[in-house]
Amino acid sequence: MRVRDIVITGDPVLHSASEEVTEIDDYIRDLVEDMYLTMDTAPGVGLAAPQIGIPLQIFVYDWEDESGTYRNVAINPKLELSELKIRDPDPETESEGCLSVPGERFALLRADHATLTALDISGASYVLKASGWLARILQHEFDHLQGTLYVDRLADKEQKAARKAIKANGWGIPGQFWSPGDDFLEP
Ligand code: ZN
Repeated sequence: MRVRDIVITGDPVLHSASEEVTEIDDYIRDLVEDMYLTMDTAPGVGLAAPQIGIPLQIFVYDWEDESGTYRNVAINPKLELSELKIRDPDPETESEGCLSVPGERFALLRADHATLTALDISGASYVLKASGWLARILQHEFDHLQGTLYVDRLADKEQKAARKAIKANGWGIPGQFWSPGDDFLEP
Protein backbone atom coordinates (compact mmCIF):
# COMPACT_ATOMS: atom_id res chain seq x y z
CA MET A 1 0.00 0.00 0.00
CA ARG A 2 1.29 3.47 -0.81
CA VAL A 3 0.20 7.07 -0.86
CA ARG A 4 -0.27 8.22 -4.46
CA ASP A 5 0.46 11.65 -5.86
CA ILE A 6 -2.63 13.79 -6.48
CA VAL A 7 -3.04 15.36 -9.91
CA ILE A 8 -3.75 19.10 -9.97
CA THR A 9 -6.31 20.80 -12.22
CA GLY A 10 -5.18 21.29 -15.81
CA ASP A 11 -4.22 17.68 -16.54
CA PRO A 12 -6.42 15.94 -19.16
CA VAL A 13 -7.06 12.97 -16.82
CA LEU A 14 -9.15 15.29 -14.61
CA HIS A 15 -11.09 16.76 -17.50
CA SER A 16 -12.18 13.60 -19.36
CA ALA A 17 -14.75 10.92 -18.56
CA SER A 18 -13.44 7.74 -16.87
CA GLU A 19 -13.90 4.15 -18.07
CA GLU A 20 -16.09 1.54 -16.42
CA VAL A 21 -14.40 -1.13 -14.33
CA THR A 22 -14.92 -4.49 -16.05
CA GLU A 23 -13.53 -6.77 -13.34
CA ILE A 24 -12.70 -6.25 -9.67
CA ASP A 25 -9.35 -8.04 -9.59
CA ASP A 26 -6.14 -7.66 -7.52
CA TYR A 27 -5.18 -4.56 -9.50
CA ILE A 28 -8.45 -2.84 -8.54
CA ARG A 29 -8.31 -4.05 -4.93
CA ASP A 30 -4.75 -2.67 -4.53
CA LEU A 31 -5.74 0.58 -6.25
CA VAL A 32 -8.68 1.08 -3.86
CA GLU A 33 -6.45 0.41 -0.81
CA ASP A 34 -4.07 3.09 -2.10
CA MET A 35 -7.00 5.45 -2.65
CA TYR A 36 -8.18 5.09 0.98
CA LEU A 37 -4.64 5.70 2.24
CA THR A 38 -4.15 8.70 -0.05
CA MET A 39 -7.52 10.20 0.96
CA ASP A 40 -6.74 9.77 4.67
CA THR A 41 -3.23 11.18 4.32
CA ALA A 42 -4.21 14.24 2.23
CA PRO A 43 -6.53 14.55 4.25
CA GLY A 44 -9.82 14.54 2.38
CA VAL A 45 -13.37 13.24 2.68
CA GLY A 46 -13.39 11.77 -0.82
CA LEU A 47 -11.05 10.81 -3.65
CA ALA A 48 -11.75 9.75 -7.23
CA ALA A 49 -9.41 7.54 -9.28
CA PRO A 50 -8.69 10.20 -11.95
CA GLN A 51 -7.25 12.35 -9.15
CA ILE A 52 -4.39 9.87 -8.88
CA GLY A 53 -4.12 9.66 -12.66
CA ILE A 54 -6.25 6.52 -13.17
CA PRO A 55 -9.18 7.09 -15.56
CA LEU A 56 -11.50 4.48 -14.02
CA GLN A 57 -14.99 4.88 -12.50
CA ILE A 58 -14.02 4.50 -8.85
CA PHE A 59 -14.22 6.81 -5.87
CA VAL A 60 -13.82 6.43 -2.13
CA TYR A 61 -15.43 8.54 0.61
CA ASP A 62 -15.23 8.95 4.34
CA TRP A 63 -17.81 10.90 6.29
CA GLU A 64 -19.38 10.91 9.72
CA ASP A 65 -22.35 12.88 11.00
CA GLU A 66 -25.25 12.43 13.42
CA SER A 67 -26.88 9.98 11.00
CA GLY A 68 -23.92 7.59 10.88
CA THR A 69 -20.43 6.72 9.62
CA TYR A 70 -19.92 6.34 5.88
CA ARG A 71 -16.69 4.93 4.51
CA ASN A 72 -16.80 2.92 1.33
CA VAL A 73 -15.80 2.63 -2.29
CA ALA A 74 -18.15 3.27 -5.21
CA ILE A 75 -17.30 1.37 -8.39
CA ASN A 76 -19.21 2.15 -11.63
CA PRO A 77 -21.55 4.45 -9.68
CA LYS A 78 -24.88 5.94 -10.70
CA LEU A 79 -26.24 8.99 -8.91
CA GLU A 80 -29.79 10.32 -8.69
CA LEU A 81 -30.30 13.85 -7.40
CA SER A 82 -33.16 15.79 -5.88
CA GLU A 83 -34.23 18.90 -7.70
CA LEU A 84 -31.83 21.84 -7.40
CA LYS A 85 -33.51 24.90 -5.95
CA ILE A 86 -31.68 27.85 -7.48
CA ARG A 87 -30.43 30.47 -5.00
CA ASP A 88 -27.08 31.92 -3.96
CA PRO A 89 -24.90 29.42 -2.08
CA ASP A 90 -23.96 30.26 1.51
CA PRO A 91 -20.17 30.84 1.74
CA GLU A 92 -20.25 29.85 5.44
CA THR A 93 -21.87 26.46 5.06
CA GLU A 94 -21.61 25.59 1.36
CA SER A 95 -17.96 26.24 0.52
CA GLU A 96 -16.47 23.23 -1.18
CA GLY A 97 -12.87 22.19 -1.75
CA CYS A 98 -11.05 19.65 -3.91
CA LEU A 99 -7.72 17.86 -3.51
CA SER A 100 -7.04 18.66 -7.17
CA VAL A 101 -7.45 22.39 -6.44
CA PRO A 102 -5.69 22.13 -3.07
CA GLY A 103 -6.13 24.71 -0.32
CA GLU A 104 -8.89 26.65 -2.12
CA ARG A 105 -12.59 26.87 -1.15
CA PHE A 106 -15.51 28.26 -3.14
CA ALA A 107 -19.23 28.28 -2.41
CA LEU A 108 -21.32 26.04 -4.65
CA LEU A 109 -24.98 25.10 -4.69
CA ARG A 110 -25.64 21.35 -4.68
CA ALA A 111 -28.74 19.17 -4.59
CA ASP A 112 -29.87 18.46 -1.01
CA HIS A 113 -30.34 14.73 -1.56
CA ALA A 114 -28.53 12.12 -3.62
CA THR A 115 -29.05 8.40 -4.07
CA LEU A 116 -25.93 6.43 -4.96
CA THR A 117 -26.04 2.99 -6.57
CA ALA A 118 -22.62 1.38 -6.94
CA LEU A 119 -20.57 -1.77 -6.55
CA ASP A 120 -18.51 -2.24 -3.39
CA ILE A 121 -15.08 -3.91 -3.33
CA SER A 122 -16.65 -7.39 -3.24
CA GLY A 123 -18.61 -6.59 -6.41
CA ALA A 124 -21.95 -6.39 -4.56
CA SER A 125 -24.33 -3.63 -5.57
CA TYR A 126 -25.45 -1.25 -2.81
CA VAL A 127 -27.66 1.81 -2.50
CA LEU A 128 -26.87 4.81 -0.29
CA LYS A 129 -29.42 7.56 0.30
CA ALA A 130 -27.54 10.69 1.33
CA SER A 131 -28.42 14.18 2.51
CA GLY A 132 -26.49 17.30 3.43
CA TRP A 133 -22.72 17.18 3.28
CA LEU A 134 -22.60 13.47 2.38
CA ALA A 135 -24.84 14.18 -0.62
CA ARG A 136 -22.42 16.96 -1.58
CA ILE A 137 -19.41 14.63 -1.35
CA LEU A 138 -21.12 12.04 -3.56
CA GLN A 139 -21.98 14.69 -6.17
CA HIS A 140 -18.42 16.04 -6.09
CA GLU A 141 -16.79 12.61 -6.51
CA PHE A 142 -19.30 11.43 -9.12
CA ASP A 143 -18.55 14.59 -11.12
CA HIS A 144 -14.85 13.67 -11.14
CA LEU A 145 -15.70 10.49 -13.05
CA GLN A 146 -17.43 12.58 -15.74
CA GLY A 147 -14.39 14.87 -16.04
CA THR A 148 -16.06 17.72 -14.16
CA LEU A 149 -14.44 19.61 -11.28
CA TYR A 150 -16.51 21.59 -8.78
CA VAL A 151 -14.83 24.78 -10.01
CA ASP A 152 -16.41 24.10 -13.44
CA ARG A 153 -19.84 24.40 -11.79
CA LEU A 154 -19.33 27.67 -9.93
CA ALA A 155 -21.54 30.67 -10.57
CA ASP A 156 -19.95 33.68 -12.33
CA LYS A 157 -18.51 35.48 -9.31
CA GLU A 158 -16.98 32.37 -7.72
CA GLN A 159 -15.90 31.08 -11.14
CA LYS A 160 -13.89 34.24 -11.70
CA ALA A 161 -12.24 33.99 -8.27
CA ALA A 162 -11.41 30.32 -8.87
CA ARG A 163 -9.84 31.03 -12.27
CA LYS A 164 -7.75 33.74 -10.67
CA ALA A 165 -6.60 31.44 -7.85
CA ILE A 166 -5.72 28.63 -10.26
CA LYS A 167 -3.67 31.02 -12.37
CA ALA A 168 -1.98 32.58 -9.32
CA ASN A 169 -0.89 29.10 -8.18
CA GLY A 170 0.56 28.35 -11.62
CA TRP A 171 -1.94 25.51 -12.16
CA GLY A 172 -4.22 24.81 -15.10
CA ILE A 173 -1.52 23.09 -17.16
CA PRO A 174 -0.89 19.32 -17.55
CA GLY A 175 1.50 17.25 -15.45
CA GLN A 176 1.26 18.95 -12.07
CA PHE A 177 0.72 17.02 -8.86
CA TRP A 178 1.30 17.12 -5.11
CA SER A 179 2.33 14.43 -2.62
CA PRO A 180 0.16 13.99 0.50
CA GLY A 181 2.34 13.33 3.53
CA ASP A 182 5.20 15.36 2.02
CA ASP A 183 3.25 18.40 0.93
CA PHE A 184 0.69 19.99 3.23
CA LEU A 185 -1.69 21.79 0.91
CA GLU A 186 -4.97 20.89 2.62
CA PRO A 187 -5.96 22.21 6.07
ZN1 ZN B 1 -12.32 16.82 -5.98
